[in-house]
Amino acid sequence: MSKYWSNTIKDIEPYVPGEQPKDKTYIKLNTNENPYPPSPRVIKAIKENTNNNLRLYPDPGCDNLKEAIASYYNLDRDQVFVGNGSDEVLAFSFMAFFDRERPLLFPTITYSFYPVYCRLLNIEYRQVPLQDDFTLNVEEFYRENHGIIFPNPNAPTGIYLPLSKVEKIVAYNIDKVVIIDEAYIDFGGKSAVSLIDKYPNLLIVQTFSKSRSLAGLRIGFAMGNKKLIEGLNRVKNSINSYTLDTLAMIAAREAIKDDKYFEETRLKIIKTRDRVAKNLRKIGFKVLDSRANFIFISHQSYPACDLFNELKDKGILVRYFNQPGISNYLRVSVGTEREMDVFIKTIEEIISG
Ligand code: PMP
Repeated sequence: MSKYWSNTIKDIEPYVPGEQPKDKTYIKLNTNENPYPPSPRVIKAIKENTNNNLRLYPDPGCDNLKEAIASYYNLDRDQVFVGNGSDEVLAFSFMAFFDRERPLLFPTITYSFYPVYCRLLNIEYRQVPLQDDFTLNVEEFYRENHGIIFPNPNAPTGIYLPLSKVEKIVAYNIDKVVIIDEAYIDFGGKSAVSLIDKYPNLLIVQTFSKSRSLAGLRIGFAMGNKKLIEGLNRVKNSINSYTLDTLAMIAAREAIKDDKYFEETRLKIIKTRDRVAKNLRKIGFKVLDSRANFIFISHQSYPACDLFNELKDKGILVRYFNQPGISNYLRVSVGTEREMDVFIKTIEEIISG
């Protein structure tokens, strides 16, 4: 039998997403989902629309949703792009803007999808080191490059880079595309969206998966100069005109209009996060200063890997990254107050033997 076909399958190392366990019900703190349901307006709108329109293809331009996002951020509709989760928006961005010549820069400790896209698309990249306290040294991004991407707040550390420093990076690299992945920006950071009109090279990517509780519907978006958005549209329309389905668009539009619910839930998460961080520090944990809906923690005398396994045995799922520099840390998503009470109690029992 010819093995020719099997040799032609691309040898790529894909991204491994966090577990969605099926064996039992966990207190699930491993993939940074929002512990609260989406806005009641979202559920109502989906119910009202399940019998309508589904026979038809969705609007390929996603105009109504783009309009709602543009109005929320005070932009024009053609400064907004939407996609099937911000993972897709990021993938399209890599395809649209980055090449093989000089390297794309991103931090050593960061969202692990970036090197995956680079390897898939043959994009040259260089990872810039973080400082010992995991903060980002702006000057690392003054090295030769053909583009830059980093999350703000960073993942999985949760550390936020102040807007003035983000602006320095964007301004210094004015002739390159700089992407700020703001998946977690609503949990205490300040978005760089205010800089879009000043810097045509800046692309902001955000998601409805975290602060708007819609991870299951897959909606992400980008905001930037019209030319960048046009570049994204070209890539998208060369791959799939209908990346967002009708119900996802309706849901996202309702979610972004319900500011009251958004504020309530996001502030609740911030409050829980800060309380949990304080309690963990009291019992000997190092907790990085997080502006995201997760915390990054380590314990001097208890290996993170063991802690991960013991928590899992006791029904609590967190995230462990077996990666140089962070292999003694756990990333813990912020759940409800009650879930986090159970988490603190359990982890305290484990470390005190
Ligand atoms: N960027 C970062 C930094 C993330 O952590 C995630 C979530 N894993 C994403 C983007 C993608 O989120 P989504 O595709 O759900 O919008």
